[in-house]
Amino acid sequence: MTDVPAPGIERTLVLVKPDAVARGLTGAILARYEQKGLRVLALELRSIDRGLAARHYAEHVGRPYYPGLEDFIVSGPLVCLVLEGERAIAAVRSLNGATDGVEAVPGSIRGDFGTSKSLNLVHASDSPESSRREIGIWFPHLVA
Ligand code: ADP
Ligand code: MG
Repeated sequence: MTDVPAPGIERTLVLVKPDAVARGLTGAILARYEQKGLRVLALELRSIDRGLAARHYAEHVGRPYYPGLEDFIVSGPLVCLVLEGERAIAAVRSLNGATDGVEAVPGSIRGDFGTSKSLNLVHASDSPESSRREIGIWFPHLVA
């Protein structure tokens, strides 16, 4: 496995959250990323503990919604993956849509598959810094 993406190519950490896995939407969601032209660099079905949840969502610990978010993200298996491609971070955020499924535009994953602001199907890194931090948590062998 190469440790460094090609010049101009980004990597981003994506979670297909427990609600999406439980609803059988994993394949439909992964298809959208692949159809966009993003490449799957790593992928695993995993159930996580509260420690990993708090590391991943470190900036949210202490917020009023955090206890519910932690209960949700440890509630069942999720699919974690790394996608690679041209401006992959922005591309995946755009495919995912706004946090709240009701506000997310139709055509986006959240806009097409849900109405919740908490059980919202997917996560994706929001910046190069979070991408590096999150890939380091989930797939440490991919970070130099
Ligand atoms: P995003 O996932 O779109 O980057 P945030 O980083 O703001 O959104 O929040 C992380 C996750 O925490 C959301 O995807 C959602 O699952 C949950 N969340 C955020 N805000 C709320 C809220 N006000 N009520 C319930 N859950 C929330
Ligand atoms: Mg976020």
